[in-house]
Amino acid sequence: MTTHGPFHDTAMEKFEPAALAAGQRAKLHALLAKLASNKFYNAKFKAAGIDTADGATLNTRDLPFTTKKELVDDQARFAPFGSNLTYAPDAYSRFHQTSGSTGSPLRWLDTRESWDWMLGNWSWIYAAAGVKPKDRICFAFSFGPFLGFWTAFESAVKYGALCFPAGGLSTSARLRFMLDNGITVVCCTPTYALRMAEVAAEEKVNIALSPVRLMLVAGEPGGSVPQTRARIEEAWGAACVDHYGMTEVGPACFECEKVRGRLHVIESEYIAECVDPETGKARAEGDVGELVLTNLGREGSPLLRYRTGDIVRLRRHAPCACGRSFAALEGGILGRVDDMLVVRGVNIYPSAVEEAVRRFGEIAEFRVEIQQWRAMTELKVIVEVTADTEPNAVAKRVATELRRVFSLRIPVEVAAPGTLPRFEMKAKRWVRVKEEE
Ligand SMILES: [Zn+2]
Repeated sequence: MTTHGPFHDTAMEKFEPAALAAGQRAKLHALLAKLASNKFYNAKFKAAGIDTADGATLNTRDLPFTTKKELVDDQARFAPFGSNLTYAPDAYSRFHQTSGSTGSPLRWLDTRESWDWMLGNWSWIYAAAGVKPKDRICFAFSFGPFLGFWTAFESAVKYGALCFPAGGLSTSARLRFMLDNGITVVCCTPTYALRMAEVAAEEKVNIALSPVRLMLVAGEPGGSVPQTRARIEEAWGAACVDHYGMTEVGPACFECEKVRGRLHVIESEYIAECVDPETGKARAEGDVGELVLTNLGREGSPLLRYRTGDIVRLRRHAPCACGRSFAALEGGILGRVDDMLVVRGVNIYPSAVEEAVRRFGEIAEFRVEIQQWRAMTELKVIVEVTADTEPNAVAKRVATELRRVFSLRIPVEVAAPGTLPRFEMKAKRWVRVKEEE
C-alpha cells in the first residue's frame, strides 16, 4: 500500500524573492543547455544573435518572445508536429492539441518526463484546493484531445483520489452519476458548473445537499469572478476554487488557500512576466498586461517567454498570507488580449461584464453581441431570466448596473426562456454581429 497525497516539490515555495529568482535562473540555464537539438529555438536564438552556449550570463529578458502564430506557422512548415522538439519523435509518448477556437489547432507532443512534470504541477493545484486522497473526483467533461483533462485526471490518480471519468454522458446522466457514486470534488469549467446546477434545479435535484464539497474550475475567467463563483458555491453548497493553465505551457497557477481570487504562479516551475501587449515592454509591478510564461520543466517541447494572450495583474507578495513568495495573478485571468474592446473610449474586458451581469441571480444565461460599425464598436447584452421573473424589470436593472460600472449606456434585451445556447466547455457568450451598411 503506497502513501498518497501531494507529490510536488515545495522546496522553493518560501524562498526569498532573490533566492527564488536564482533558482529559476539555474533551471533556465539547465533547460537551455539541453536545447542544442531543438531546431525551432536554435533558429530563434540565431536570428536574435544569442549564444546559449554561454547560458550562465543570459537573463530571461535576453531571450526572444515566442508567439502562438510562430508555432502555428512552424507546424505548417514542418508538418505535422513542427520543429519545437528537443528529441527525436520516438522519444515522445503523448499527443494533444488545442481546441483551435481562435485559428488552427496546435499539436503538442510530450515525453514521459515532461508529462510527469505536468502531473506534479497539478499536485500543487489539488493540494492548495484542499483535495484529500479520500476524495472522489468527477471529471465532468468529454475526454477529447485536450491536454488539461488528461493531466488533471492522471495527476489525481497519482494523488491517490478515486477518479471518475464522466465523458460521453448527458448533463442529466452526469448528475445522476455523481450522486450515485458519492462524488465529493468536481472538475469542470465555471460555465458548466452553472449549467449542471440549472439542470439539477429543473429536475428538482437539490445538489446543495449532495456530498460535493469542492468545485475545481478552470478554462474561463469565471472561477475568479466573485459573482460567478458565489453563484456556483450557492447552487452546489460547495467551495469553488480556480486554477489556470494552457495546453502550450501546462498547468501553471493555483488559487491561494488564504486569499481568494489570488492565483499563485508555480514559480519553481515557471518564470512569469507581465508585458504591454502592444510593445512587449515589461509592465510595472501590479499593472495590468499580458502574461508571458517560460516553462522550466517541459524540455521535450519547451516554451520560452510565451505570449499567452491572457490579461492579468501580476503581483508579488513576499510573503503572501499563505507564507509563499510566489507571484500571483490578482483576480485570476481578466480577459484575453484579443477580447478587449474599446467602446466609446472605455476599455472593456468580458470578465468585467460577466461580473456585472452575474450580480443578478435571476439571470439564467446571457450573451453579448459586438457590433462593429465603421470605426465604432458597440455592445448589446441579451439576458435570459429564470422562470417566475419579470424579464423587462431585470433587463432594466442590468442596464443600470452596466451604466454604473462602465459609465456607458449599454442596451440590454430579453431573450425567451431556453433560447440562448448552453455550454459544456468553454462558453462562447461574446458574438460578433455584422452590421448592415
Ligand atoms: Zn498565497
